[in-house]
Amino acid sequence: MPETLNERILTGVPVSGGSVLGVCHRLADKRFTRVKGNPGEEAVALRNAISRAGKELEELSAGLDRLAAEILEFQQVLLEDDDLLEPVFSRIDSGESADGAWAAVFAGEIAEYQAADDEYMAARAADLGDLRDRVLRALSAPQSAGDTPPDGAIVVAGDLTPSAFLELDWTRLSGAALGAGSATSHVSILARARGVTMVVGLGELDETPSGATLALDGRTGTMIVAPSSETRARFQERIAQEAGLKAQEAEIARKPAITRAGRKIRVLVNVDDPSILDTLDPDICDGIGLTRTEFLFSEGPPDEETQLQAYETIVRWANGRPVTIRTLDAGGDKPVPGVTLDGEQNPFLGVRGLRLSLLDRSLFRVQLRAIARAARLGPVKLMVPMVTAPFELEEAREELDLAIAELSKEGLAHARPECGIMIETPAAALTAADWDADFYSIGSNDLIQYVTACARDNPNLAKLADPCNPAVLELIGRTVAAGKARGVEVSLCGDMASSPELVPLLLSLGLECFSVAPAQVGPVKLAISSTEGDMANGE
Ligand code: PEP
Ligand code: MG
Repeated sequence: MPETLNERILTGVPVSGGSVLGVCHRLADKRFTRVKGNPGEEAVALRNAISRAGKELEELSAGLDRLAAEILEFQQVLLEDDDLLEPVFSRIDSGESADGAWAAVFAGEIAEYQAADDEYMAARAADLGDLRDRVLRALSAPQSAGDTPPDGAIVVAGDLTPSAFLELDWTRLSGAALGAGSATSHVSILARARGVTMVVGLGELDETPSGATLALDGRTGTMIVAPSSETRARFQERIAQEAGLKAQEAEIARKPAITRAGRKIRVLVNVDDPSILDTLDPDICDGIGLTRTEFLFSEGPPDEETQLQAYETIVRWANGRPVTIRTLDAGGDKPVPGVTLDGEQNPFLGVRGLRLSLLDRSLFRVQLRAIARAARLGPVKLMVPMVTAPFELEEAREELDLAIAELSKEGLAHARPECGIMIETPAAALTAADWDADFYSIGSNDLIQYVTACARDNPNLAKLADPCNPAVLELIGRTVAAGKARGVEVSLCGDMASSPELVPLLLSLGLECFSVAPAQVGPVKLAISSTEGDMANGE
């Protein structure tokens, strides 16, 4: 049947990876049919199913990295949440079936999360759907095997829950194509972290049967069903080119970054979750240019020891290279339950980043103490996010002084970190020379949204939120010049730095320090070494 299909091109949203060819394996929609018992039997059946689902999640979590485990942890916590379980059991008491009651209560919860119109909450709604289905599966008769994709297959599904993604062995599979989803959903984050080729948002996939040949491109977001022999040949050529390029990038990643004109450029990495360091060789970088400490706050504020342990792990990994730790940047696109303020009309222009830390000084103090204690192990640089006026840095320094005085009094070993700022607001960029900062790091993700007045999480504004807008480039150039005039380092740690195609432009603005996503070290170093990159700006 598949060979009678005509070639068809579908366009979706690119998530990760490059070009792959493979056979379509559709993940079957599971059905959850069962025979209903009396209320007592139904309650027991549900308790057993909940306990089985809990065990499955526990087994699945073992050995996963922190991010993946946290996604499953949210589901494990829900399985013990009385506020969720109580209405289910009371429906069963009133005569409803276990599966009916479970599905009905979850439908209400999922609708509430979806109504929040917020990407974070939408991702949580997907997690709830995942958990609902896991328990429904556990309630129904055991599934027959036969849904295991063959080696090299491209998995095709309407959507894929995080736990269904984690259950598949991606070392054997070529990629995933989903009808629904967004580039920021949890399953997309997991795919990117593992380098799995994935395209989402492809729409209706009913006419993509198992067994059909597929050509999937994770960079452009296209999927070709039943590619012609010419298309297949083109893809095979591209796959070979990408493999060659990957090998070149892996080789250059281990070398210092030097432009063709001989200019030495520092390449640092961004760390969003320290588990990425387990498989990363510190020799490929000149240090860590950004540690997003929000990963520690996903379950609410962590205590000093928890933070200290995390920061120490990172400093030890860096092995003498500088480590930039950014203080909590909660708010805007990074809400932290229990920490960020509720009900702000415009959270991107609200109490976020350092503004929040200065509002909750006790929370800030704990983080400053942990950072200063970790600094005894190596060169730590403390970076404050989302600043507008120099007095904010002064206040942060005063808090750091108090934290250090406390540690000295308590006899706890520590060292004073350098203190720098993120350049994310136009005000900070325009006045960079006036700040008494030990270093600057340009947060282009936020700088672009504040300069172009385009929310960074709004896909409809992608064209306007242009990193190459002359106003954005003007502010980057001014910041670099201000840093040079003051003799302090200027790096760029927003996504712009991770784009090889923007490297020549950034070098021409005088930038000499890039902080990039770990997977982009090779591509960015390759771009640096292929650029003339002579001294810009009249130097
Ligand atoms: C930025 O704004 O460019 C940045 C690096 O910070 P974040 O993306 O975490 O806001
Ligand atoms: Mg930012």
